Amino acid sequence: MAYVINDDCISCGACEPECPSEAISEGDGKFVIDADKCTDCGNCADVCPVGAPTQE
Ligand code: SF4
Ligand code: SF4
Repeated sequence: MAYVINDDCISCGACEPECPSEAISEGDGKFVIDADKCTDCGNCADVCPVGAPTQE
C-alpha cells in the first residue's frame, strides 16, 4: 500500500520536503508519489491544503 496524490493537487509543493522517504516529486500538472519509496507515514496528507494525498 502507498499514498497516491489525486487530481485535486494544486502543485503547491508543501508535501515534498515533508516526506522522509523522498518519495514525492513534481509531475505533469501535479505532484506524484513513488509507491516503491512511500512508507505510508501520512506526512504528505497532514500538510496538504487540499487533501490530495490519499491512501490507496
Ligand atoms: Fe512520503 Fe509519507 Fe507521503 Fe508516503 S505517506 S509519500 S512516505 S510523506
Ligand atoms: Fe499537491 Fe497537496 Fe502536495 Fe501541495 S501538498 S503539492 S496540493 S499533494
